[in-house]
Amino acid sequence: MTIHVHVLGTAQDGGFPHAGCGCAHCEHARENPLLRRRVSCIGIVGATGRLLMVDATPDFAAQLAEFSNAAGREQPGVDALILTHAHMGHYLGLAMLGKEAMSAQRVPVHCTRSMRRFLEANRPWSHLIERDEIAIETLDPGETLQFDGAEIRTFLTPHRGEDTDTIGIEVHGPKRTLVYVSDADVFPPALADRIREADVALIDGTFYARDELPHREILEVKHPFVAESVERFADARGEVIFIHINHSNALLAPEPPTLPGGFRVAAEGDSFAL
Ligand SMILES: [Zn+2]
Ligand SMILES: [Zn+2]
Ligand SMILES: [Zn+2]
Repeated sequence: MTIHVHVLGTAQDGGFPHAGCGCAHCEHARENPLLRRRVSCIGIVGATGRLLMVDATPDFAAQLAEFSNAAGREQPGVDALILTHAHMGHYLGLAMLGKEAMSAQRVPVHCTRSMRRFLEANRPWSHLIERDEIAIETLDPGETLQFDGAEIRTFLTPHRGEDTDTIGIEVHGPKRTLVYVSDADVFPPALADRIREADVALIDGTFYARDELPHREILEVKHPFVAESVERFADARGEVIFIHINHSNALLAPEPPTLPGGFRVAAEGDSFAL
């Protein structure tokens, strides 16, 4: 019995190249479409082949097709979703489950109480609930979701909470554990320990260093810096892989900096057996 986790996207919410951006990294990626990156997302394949996606991004249609394909499913589809928070890169794709596209039937969507309230209180999301296209299931931080042989634990992550709180995910398979934290303003000590102890840690690598955005923006949009995380997690037990990469990140430059051993940038198509 094995659980698999597939990486379906690796960019910050705005994708790469970034909408409306003329920076050197984005221009380079427009000229070389192989460099494009979809918005951060992972898919979990359970022991009997059931599929769960963590987040529904603006790239949902392509990610659903790739996920179903990677899992060997003939008809693209998903059996459940977990939503981490209500920033646009993480839930807009939910609209694809509605009648204008998939006309899904009661697909379970696991999320926190604040995320649930947000979806119930705002259109078009409330339409999906009223039409039974999705079925919201409350998943409190700290609770464990049993999904087809995988134990999925969620935990609160400190992150700008204009509309909802934010969760990270820990997936336990029979042999190994994977942590997924796409968005965190900081890694507090307990979260840092979780990252150090995981066999695989996919962590927020939005920005490479403090100087890559104007000072005011870096203060407003907080994320840990890759250059600092590689020092902080030098003693991690497993692989530390950066995800949720912003278009401004030096790792997306035509000649990116090299990361020390044990660290790398996530790639679409990465797959981990747990
Ligand atoms: Zn994000
Ligand atoms: Zn750019
Ligand atoms: Zn966010």
